[in-house]
Amino acid sequence: MTVSTFAELGLAEQLLRALKDAQYDKPTPIQQRAIPLLLDGMDLFGIAQTGTGKTAAFTLPLLQNLDEDGIKAAPRSARALILAPTRELALQISDSIKSYGRYLRMRQAVIMGGVSQRPQIEALRRGVDILVATPGRLLDLVNQRHVDLRHCEYLIIDEADRMLDMGFIRDVRKIVAQLPDERQTLLFSATMPAEVTKLAGDILFEPERVEIAAKTVAVEAIEQHVHHLAKTAKRDHLAKLLEAPELSRVIVFTRTKRGADQVVKRLTRDGIGAEAMHGNKSQNARQRALENFRNGRSRVLVATDIAARGIDVDDVTHVINFELPHEPECYIHRIGRTARAGAAGVAISFCDASERPQLRSIERLIKRSLSVVGQGPMESEALVVEKHAGAKKDKGAAGRLESGAGKRRRRPRRPRRFDRRAA
Ligand code: AMP
Repeated sequence: MTVSTFAELGLAEQLLRALKDAQYDKPTPIQQRAIPLLLDGMDLFGIAQTGTGKTAAFTLPLLQNLDEDGIKAAPRSARALILAPTRELALQISDSIKSYGRYLRMRQAVIMGGVSQRPQIEALRRGVDILVATPGRLLDLVNQRHVDLRHCEYLIIDEADRMLDMGFIRDVRKIVAQLPDERQTLLFSATMPAEVTKLAGDILFEPERVEIAAKTVAVEAIEQHVHHLAKTAKRDHLAKLLEAPELSRVIVFTRTKRGADQVVKRLTRDGIGAEAMHGNKSQNARQRALENFRNGRSRVLVATDIAARGIDVDDVTHVINFELPHEPECYIHRIGRTARAGAAGVAISFCDASERPQLRSIERLIKRSLSVVGQGPMESEALVVEKHAGAKKDKGAAGRLESGAGKRRRRPRRPRRFDRRAA
């Protein structure tokens, strides 16, 4: 069945109105597939990354289900919980809830580390319909009995693979153990490491699987270049590239926080407006850096991968990989920050001799070679690697994904909304 409008997906009038305000004409593929399933109370394993419209895919049916349930949240409790790995993503989800839920009466709170917990406790006191949280702080507040999740009937775990990278999976499991067995559970992940598949198998009940291949999201629309150069030449090279005015809104990715700070220092010295965004900065400093970037006050945002998750800024003209990531999937996340919403975008990667294996992994994953700008890899260097003449055939991202979301069940079957309504 091909669906071309939000109304055909069965969304309520208040949501359709909010979508009209947001000027969304048409549901994205993940929205088309996920929304009807979720309105029906199914569990879902979504394999999709940022940029696919996944936030609306889970927020819209959640708002509708909560509204239809017509229950009032008890004090210090939440009716729905959305877990996100980073503060930025949590805030972005919260903004989406505000936007899509503007014609519904929903109370929400955001719980995250790095800021005072007092206002968060205050926000929870009367109870909330939707709680958006990062795992560590939420667990603290649960342990201090500021929030009770025993009646929380909806659970959404976003970016589960990033939770894993950041060491949050144990906290996530502890949180899930607080929730009732009868609930609707959704888990989203851009990639599927074994531990994420295991988590899905343990917490989802007969999930529907919706997979949106990464390559259809970002990679094809983006011009991708690689500049081979020595590690020590990278900062000068970056400053030189930024002399071109067409690089007007640029995200530079570094692998480390220290690296990010050094790049900012160098660019600032050259009079280029740049700010760093990484986990060592306070929440306020990160929000400020993002805001300055969004409103054009700073031209360059220098970020580490973790801090960059959840950055949603339109019209990013260029993504520059100052260092290549260790995981090739990360490359896709990074470059997906440009060319959002169908706009053109350019991704430039710096590659020193030690990074060539990473470059090859990336090219295998995206099934194409990046176009080489300037000199190719220097033959004189000790670490000579064959030139990346055409990416080899590989199963690629989609092919690597394991199948089956885990058939083992522990939880009793949760009645679908359909059954519950009929009952
Ligand atoms: P996400 O994948 O949830 O991070 O969403 C990526 C971006 O797409 C966000 O800026 C959304 O506001 C936007 N978006 C989501 N769904 C739609 C849609 N159906 N039409 C247009 N834009 C959308």
